[in-house]
Amino acid sequence: MKYPTHISFTTSLANYIKSMQDKVNEGKLPAVLHDKNLQAIVETIMDYQAQLKQIPAGVKRALAVLRGIDKLIVQQRSEHRDIHRRVTCRKGCSACCHQMVEITTDEAELLAKLVETGRAAIDPEKLLKQASWSTDPDKWWLQPKEERSCVFLKDNVCSVYKYRPVNCRKYLVVNDPKECANPLGGPVLTVMMNEVEILATAAGDLDRASLGSNMPQTLLKAIMKRGMLRGKK
Ligand code: SF4
Repeated sequence: MKYPTHISFTTSLANYIKSMQDKVNEGKLPAVLHDKNLQAIVETIMDYQAQLKQIPAGVKRALAVLRGIDKLIVQQRSEHRDIHRRVTCRKGCSACCHQMVEITTDEAELLAKLVETGRAAIDPEKLLKQASWSTDPDKWWLQPKEERSCVFLKDNVCSVYKYRPVNCRKYLVVNDPKECANPLGGPVLTVMMNEVEILATAAGDLDRASLGSNMPQTLLKAIMKRGMLRGKK
């Protein structure tokens, strides 16, 4: 089976598929097993998408995906206790909240709704500034630390934790947290949860509108759509 280029896989899932293909090329994995595995991944993505299409786009669908992701993470945690015990992510460790994060349009709708209803507060000037910055994740690091922190990060704690996007939930680091804050350091090691990546891919792939954008841009669009920040842009 050829790599399905019509699907926008999460980076982690794309890397996993590529690593399996490399094993086939090196003769370490029978091609037939790889094909079967890939076929199952694609079919599961299609199944998820069929279910997600039944839910109205926006807040409802974002909440359904977040519930699904949480359920899968809990399941993975109980099945792979040894790996999850090594996770170093802790409250107050906010290095990942200074990186560029991507969110779907549904998640942006959910976060914009929190802002609109006063359940979350953001600095509009900071959001506008971040939204005009490059969408290249490497260039994100060129901003001063305070300017690149997420607009929802308050006193080093996520102020929308219950509603934080999929990418913030599935980023479980197992190395020294200091390495997360250093873009020039070695690669950050995270727990790979295939089931979670498959649902994240299904939700992300449904949303072509936010592809190639970052959280500030996608969020800003949702906020402007609701009539907030009028005259600011
Ligand atoms: S939404 Fe919360 S967890 Fe995600 S980057 Fe922002 S502050 Fe961090």
